[in-house]
Amino acid sequence: MDINTAKQALRELQLKMYAYNYASAIVYLDAATVAPKNTSEGRGVAMSVLSGETHKLFCNDEVGELLTFLTEHKDELSDIERRETEVLKRSYDRQTKIPLDVVMEYSKLGVEADDAWHRAKETSDFELFRPYLEKIVEYQKMFAGYYDPTKKPYDALLDTYERGMNTEILDRYFDKVRSAIVPLLAATQAAPEIDDSFLYKYYPVEKQKEFNDRLMEVMGIDRGYCTIGETEHPFTTGTDNRHARITTHYYPEAPSFAMYSTIHEGGHALYELGGDDKYRYTCLAGGVSMGVHESQSRFYENIVGRSEGFTKFIFPKFKEMFPEQLEGVTADMFYHAVNKAQPSLIRTEADELTYSLHIMIRYELEKRIIAGELAVKDIPGEWNRMYKEYLGIDVPSDKEGCLQDSHWSGGSFGYFPSYSLGSAYGAQMLAKMRETVDVDGALAKGDIAPITAWLRERIHRHASFLEPADVVRNACEAEFDPTFYTDYLTKKFTKLYNL
Ligand SMILES: [Zn+2]
Repeated sequence: MDINTAKQALRELQLKMYAYNYASAIVYLDAATVAPKNTSEGRGVAMSVLSGETHKLFCNDEVGELLTFLTEHKDELSDIERRETEVLKRSYDRQTKIPLDVVMEYSKLGVEADDAWHRAKETSDFELFRPYLEKIVEYQKMFAGYYDPTKKPYDALLDTYERGMNTEILDRYFDKVRSAIVPLLAATQAAPEIDDSFLYKYYPVEKQKEFNDRLMEVMGIDRGYCTIGETEHPFTTGTDNRHARITTHYYPEAPSFAMYSTIHEGGHALYELGGDDKYRYTCLAGGVSMGVHESQSRFYENIVGRSEGFTKFIFPKFKEMFPEQLEGVTADMFYHAVNKAQPSLIRTEADELTYSLHIMIRYELEKRIIAGELAVKDIPGEWNRMYKEYLGIDVPSDKEGCLQDSHWSGGSFGYFPSYSLGSAYGAQMLAKMRETVDVDGALAKGDIAPITAWLRERIHRHASFLEPADVVRNACEAEFDPTFYTDYLTKKFTKLYNL
């Protein structure tokens, strides 16, 4: 093999992978949005074949030899080709350890488990989902062993979402977060209660959609490259830096849910769409890790979307569209209402202050489940016990408890901590951004452009060229430090509640 033939093969391989991933993303999106509800069986067969073909395309000896050859000739590669080789080699080494029949079985289980989870959640019947979850947990433990047998299984899984992350770092991280949030939350609960009752009136869905369109416009999301759909659980998907899709969920009597999930998913989309063209159709396109992805989505959702400046900028438009529901409500009341801190049952509806406590509970449970210290059948009891311990509330049903998230049915063990890490990365990015950008001035004018420009320059455009820790270091010109997050929360909620 000569070097130019190898470089050509590298490009062709990535282009084919792009096409296969494109097809999978669209099938997934269709299933989650508009596919008729009784069609999962046929889709399961198709997805199983497709994932088998994707596996075969990449996990074969020829690709192994190509990546070894390129690794041995890395001095003759461009920076981008070198990084592509590094990323693909790591993925190849990990995936080739898993036999093809296991990959196909697992993909089929995934479709069935997703279906079972939907039915279980609908009827609040954990027993319906339990056998599927038990199988998923066994697969996850097996995968962890394939990924890195030298690590504790949960550490091996965490590493797949946030390279370099482990339980040692996270135990310390959550200790720090808990010691800051718990007393702060107690202080807010002792302060006079914020009135948010006007956010629980009837807001027609059609008008909510119109308002969400306005939000996407203010965020600077180009609708020519990103559309919005509806799902039970909002998410973002995409195929490349010119094609993203976000979804939201409209509740007629809780308009702030759709508003903030749209801003959150819009943040994911801006990250995906902000990648440099030079990474398009390669393995370096798109966000580098779940943690960095959440740093962007949660930056827009909370640091932008729940800021005093932005809420007061957007409020007149909101009031213009819903004059009856908002009669007598001021912009300041709106700012306080969308930031009300209150222990609650549902993670996706949690306020900015309590959010990381929801994540802590899932982290503690996952750590014990994967370590074999907690049986799947005991999840509901433990879940409810920890919600009482950390948030002081009783969980009335599994639907509002351990069945609320789709992550476990999708086998995403190790994903949850990235939500909390993302908030912490975002707070540190904000501190750095403030050195050169008049953030509060921009928010008050509803001018998000200088904020997005900073994020694009320091984070988005690099796509997956840099490792997660390097993205944070590059953006903040410092090592990751969770103190920025706890300081940010303390400052914001102390002022908001006059503590
Ligand atoms: Zn997200």
